[in-house]
Amino acid sequence: MIDFQVIQGDITKSQVDAIVNAANTSLLGGGGVDGAIHRAAGPELDAACRKLNGCPTGEAKTTPGFRLPAKYIIHTPGPVWHGGQQNEAQLLHNSYWHSLVQAEQHQCETVDFPSISTGVYRFPLDQAAEIAVQTIKDFLTQATIVRQVRLVAFDSVTKQAYMQAKKKIIGG
Ligand code: ADP
Repeated sequence: MIDFQVIQGDITKSQVDAIVNAANTSLLGGGGVDGAIHRAAGPELDAACRKLNGCPTGEAKTTPGFRLPAKYIIHTPGPVWHGGQQNEAQLLHNSYWHSLVQAEQHQCETVDFPSISTGVYRFPLDQAAEIAVQTIKDFLTQATIVRQVRLVAFDSVTKQAYMQAKKKIIGG
């Protein structure tokens, strides 16, 4: 049984083992969900991120959650959309996959994702949602520790896109 849910909310409030941050390659904070996570986690997060020396697109690195309810923050820079011919789909898959590998390595059972790359990075929403759901499904099928994944949409349009992808790829 695949335990994957789509909810609407603010990921900084998630009470789970790990939340994922749609970071940039510097890992030094930015706008959107990245900014919200840095504000809510407190200055300790900036100090921890500075020691990580950035992160390539599609890879993932983990810090404690500091002042967040989540135990860990998994930071992954998703791809910037440049029209689709620059490996964007593979890189977005890699961001979800490598985030879940990090979650397993930190013994996380429950993981919440934001909609990676569909804000400022402009990845087309419906395509991003299908890549996210397919990758999460494939990972959960073979996971040993992660048992529940949620996609936390910040707005209703994003929620609808992920619900539709879930229906298409997982069913129900
Ligand atoms: P990217 O640079 O990867 O595109 P953004 O942060 O610009 O990342 O957008 C990614 C998604 O995160 C968007 O759907 C945006 O609405 C959403 N978002 C912004 N703040 C929050 C939050 N507090 N919780 C969950 N999602 C959020």
